[in-house]
Amino acid sequence: MSCANKLRGTSLCVSRVRSPVGTGSCARHSCVEAAARFGDGGEQICDGGLIGVASVFSDDIAIDLGTVNTLVYVVGRGIILDEPSAVALKTVGGMREVVAVGLKAKAMLGRTPETIELIRPLRDGVIADFIATEAMLRQFIKRAKSKFGFRRPRILICVPASATPVERRAVYETVVSSGSRQVFIVEEPVAAAIGAGMPVDEPRGSMVVDIGGGTTDIAVLSLGGVMQARSLRCAGNAFDEAIIRFVRRRHQLLIGEANAERIKIEAGTALVGGGSRAVDIHIRGRDLRQGRPKSIVLTPSNIAEALDGPIDSITEFILRALEDLPPNVAADICETGVCLTGGGALIVGLDTELARRVGVPFTVPSGPMHCVIRGSATIVEELDERRHLLLTP
Ligand code: ADP
Ligand code: MG
Repeated sequence: MSCANKLRGTSLCVSRVRSPVGTGSCARHSCVEAAARFGDGGEQICDGGLIGVASVFSDDIAIDLGTVNTLVYVVGRGIILDEPSAVALKTVGGMREVVAVGLKAKAMLGRTPETIELIRPLRDGVIADFIATEAMLRQFIKRAKSKFGFRRPRILICVPASATPVERRAVYETVVSSGSRQVFIVEEPVAAAIGAGMPVDEPRGSMVVDIGGGTTDIAVLSLGGVMQARSLRCAGNAFDEAIIRFVRRRHQLLIGEANAERIKIEAGTALVGGGSRAVDIHIRGRDLRQGRPKSIVLTPSNIAEALDGPIDSITEFILRALEDLPPNVAADICETGVCLTGGGALIVGLDTELARRVGVPFTVPSGPMHCVIRGSATIVEELDERRHLLLTP
């Protein structure tokens, strides 16, 4: 068991032992979580046993509205929801009706009749479908409210650094209309830097690169303030698409997005030569020339080759971000390194490969997919000191 992060003198505890949902307990703090959650490394997350009495009675909520996953954190309770950002919609007489959201919607993938469509409302890091985003957010907030009997909580929500004022406003209005007392907005990579435990309050530059599904977001903080926040539409989805293109070009085989994502997670590496990954992966798909089913074998090295293009785009993006910083801040980052977060940080060897290409050390904190929500939780808990990080809607 290890404590992954400090949250205002409390520790967000990552216990390696799974226990049944609903009865999860943390060995160090002897506390019992109402709903035990499991982190991206399969670890169980609890909010620590040192949370103050005030926070136990708080009705503050933090939301990480990701392009692939949405997480909800209730102050004093921990992460209470971690589900895919997905919505199943049915069209009846020209009207779209929500059938399911989150896990239930994702479970329908590939099994829906023609009348039901499954959509990812935030596909490329921006709100691609306002109505579906609204339906999903409303439902997640409703669940958190009814679970803890909140009437009008304060809600802090993260948006990608590239969100336009119109998108920010749309997110703000949705959260306001879902019955909240006050709504705060913060940029995802800013929350990621705080959640990763970077020394953001010190007088030196700290850079975080958050590789999610739709976007790669960068933030640079110093003395508790934001010096830079920017976003690139190239991340986990682009890795999947690169694998699809590679398999089509090299083997004339057509594979779907879900299959490509599975290949990336099970055998993906950024290191040509495969690094520590030794498993070959067998894939079935449709032969483009003959139209028949066909099987091929991919090595981790093949996948590194496939991922070369998007890794190059991310490298360029980081180099440009470093160039645009004042020389002293860039020098701080070259010395202390860059922190890599988000689901993309889990690609084996990506930190090593980026370090080689950018020429700066990279580190991956524990639980990189939870940095944004942990940081958002810290911001909402320390709102008075962190108010300057909030965006105007
Ligand atoms: P977002 O914040 O945009 O919702 P996340 O930070 O949740 O994104 O990351 C989702 C992305 O991470 C997806 O593209 C997913 O395929 C990828 N991902 C998740 N786990 C792994 C893994 N073990 N290896 C590589 N990629 C992963
Ligand atoms: Mg994210």
